[in-house]
Amino acid sequence: MTRTAADGLRSGYDVVILGGGVAGCVAASRLSEDPARTVCLVEAGPDYGPEQEAWPRPLLDARALPRTDVWERGAAVHRIRARVLGGSSCVNGCWHTWGSHADHAQWTAAGGPRWSADAMAPYRARAVEQMGLRPVPDREFSAWSRAALAAAHELGYQEVDMAAPGEPGYGTPLLNAHDGLRWNAAFGYLGHARSRPNLTVLGGALAERLEVRDGRVRSVEVAVSGRRERLTADTYLVAAGTFGSPALLLRSGIGPADQLRATGIRPEVDLPGVGANLSDQPGVFVPLAPTAELNSALAARQRDGELYVSRMLIRAASAHCPPGSWDLHVLPSAGDPLFGRLPPGEYEAGISAFLMKPASRGRVRLRSADPADPLDIDSGFLTDPEGRDTATLRTGLAVVERLAATSPLRPLVAPLTGRPSQDLSDEELRARLGTYWHPVGTCAMGRPDDPAAVTDGEGRVRGLSNLRVADASVLPTVPAANTQLPVLALAELLADALKEADSR
Ligand SMILES: Cc1cc2nc3c(=O)[nH]c(=O)nc-3n(C[C@H](O)[C@H](O)[C@H](O)COP(=O)(O)OP(=O)(O)OC[C@H]3O[C@@H](n4cnc5c(N)ncnc54)[C@H](O)[C@@H]3O)c2cc1C
Repeated sequence: MTRTAADGLRSGYDVVILGGGVAGCVAASRLSEDPARTVCLVEAGPDYGPEQEAWPRPLLDARALPRTDVWERGAAVHRIRARVLGGSSCVNGCWHTWGSHADHAQWTAAGGPRWSADAMAPYRARAVEQMGLRPVPDREFSAWSRAALAAAHELGYQEVDMAAPGEPGYGTPLLNAHDGLRWNAAFGYLGHARSRPNLTVLGGALAERLEVRDGRVRSVEVAVSGRRERLTADTYLVAAGTFGSPALLLRSGIGPADQLRATGIRPEVDLPGVGANLSDQPGVFVPLAPTAELNSALAARQRDGELYVSRMLIRAASAHCPPGSWDLHVLPSAGDPLFGRLPPGEYEAGISAFLMKPASRGRVRLRSADPADPLDIDSGFLTDPEGRDTATLRTGLAVVERLAATSPLRPLVAPLTGRPSQDLSDEELRARLGTYWHPVGTCAMGRPDDPAAVTDGEGRVRGLSNLRVADASVLPTVPAANTQLPVLALAELLADALKEADSR
């Protein structure tokens, strides 16, 4: 059932889910499977409804990254996050990959055996099926992508399955795009569920703060169409994303007590880890000048409506990662630039190196208690004191240089001139940093004796009996992967954990 503010809200739900992004849609869908459980999904952005035709065109077009329906217009690129039902699956690159066994070892140490590769495999499979993820169709490979596959082979990488834990190597992602249509989590997970009478989907509703008393959340204050409403539930499940979830907790007095007092917020539960441990994957793009031959091949793909900037990647390993794992993605791309425009018939080509397992950590803080105030986000890129991240990134850039010089790619771009990119100074690297947009970690799960842990392996927030978090923010470390598939799977896992707890 989709409601608007004008419908009037009822209260007393079994579960209220705060944030209707990737994880929120999964949780709403799975938890409302039992008709006896009433569920309300609260999303700050609009709900464009079940019919594709009602959605803005840019959100549906999988060939480009839209800049509409985001939280802060004009914000630094690394802070882009969607504000719409379906969350960042409505604005993202539609790629799905999985991380390494080393990621699972870190998650299992923090959250217990549910987080092992074997235990998560059924959740991953469920997510792949529900979202209709599929391999890259042959017609979507451009001359550039095909050449890049051959180039990776020439460098000695093995072809691997990118959507499962495995080895370093090269391969292609799974996609949530169908003939150029971005198939977001609201379509994938809520399509069939919306008609359930026990599910309320509330778009345009900002969760401002939780009311906390005596170790329990008593209600949530929600702003809808300029009015403030109070919703009550037995369980409150926060799924507002890596930036939004710690922000909601902090506004509710759940977080580092000193920091809260300094912002004028009365601490309710002193949890130093809320908003800390922000972990994202920075990268550097090395531009290559396309030859006339490549420009004309790309123009032909564009005329056919089949120009996708990238369809393959390499998992590469630096000296810092455990055997069998990888800590770099090397990603060749060619097509329309992500930002800005080029004259018709001209395209941007290049190869990016992304740091997948950063040692550096950033943080998310409030500027004030006002929910309308933009957040204070510091990604902390390349700030680890040992300089490991910078060294790893340089290893990735060396792979970029070798890839650009292979016989399949060389004829498609002008030769690289000047200093090799791995020889750029630290300052030059910093100036050229971009992001892969995979932030995690700000409500990290951890063992009971870990003072920085915010949640446990079932998403329960420490110190509050009826509050859980279930989104990218619970991951203590970012996987060596794009994060959408891991987040879909973890939301499946945490929804199951809540169902189990209900049945105990
Ligand atoms: C530009 C971009 C490109 C990306 N490309 C890829 C890719 O190609 N492949 C990949 O695997 N991953 C990609 N990602 C990452 C992926 O989209 C995220 O990992 C995933 O969306 C995280 O899911 P989530 O549920 O944690 O958060 P989100 O999907 O961001 O959902 C959070 C939701 O909560 C809502 N919300 C926040 N605060 C409140 C509040 N107070 N009240 C109510 N609602 C609130 C937000 O509006 C949003 O809808 C990309 C991300 C971005 C931004």
